[in-house]
Amino acid sequence: MSKFGRLLILSGPSGVGKSTIRDLVLEQSSVPLQLSVSATTRLPRGQEKNGVDYYFFSPDEFQKMRDADGFVECKEVFGRNVWYGTLRSEVEGHLEAGRWVMLEIDVDGAADVVSRYPDAITVFIAPPSLEILEARLRSRGTESEEAIRNRLSRAQYEMERSGFYRYRVVNEDLTAAVNEFCEIIREEEERGEKHD
Ligand code: 5GP
Repeated sequence: MSKFGRLLILSGPSGVGKSTIRDLVLEQSSVPLQLSVSATTRLPRGQEKNGVDYYFFSPDEFQKMRDADGFVECKEVFGRNVWYGTLRSEVEGHLEAGRWVMLEIDVDGAADVVSRYPDAITVFIAPPSLEILEARLRSRGTESEEAIRNRLSRAQYEMERSGFYRYRVVNEDLTAAVNEFCEIIREEEERGEKHD
């Protein structure tokens, strides 16, 4: 029997340390794990590169991709007319080739993916508390009060909707959170092998 890869969905509020955890898990994972690069209509920030951090699409290109059924899911994430989507081309071929694919997407996108791929492994990264998240966002010192408020209300929204995730990892200590995540992958891998 051919062995398909698994989908691993990672979500969590902005400021929780998601991308740091993601990068370390990609390095340390016990399975061949591929990061899915999403498409977005937002503009690149800082050093972001097209095809590496995101595929930066114009609204028109994004719409054409939707019309061609090129997305596994897509969402207008912040309600500001900025779209994000998981491309089929980033997912399907890898799964068929037996590679695991990690999606870093928001909770609403995750719910859509789970309805299509019920055996997707969902991991929600939570802060120890909303107060600690707020303190972390403020300590960056790079954002306006309004931006911090927006991120916090979005964080609350995401946390309230995270009940359907199979796993919840609290990022109190980075190394412990990464180890816990890698352990989840190992356990899921073993469980999958038993069912083969
Ligand atoms: P940022 O603009 O800061 O890179 O990402 C903002 C949010 O968009 C993050 O919560 C991230 O998880 C989410 N996101 C990134 N790519 C996708 C995607 O393909 N689909 C969905 N639904 N959300 C995404």
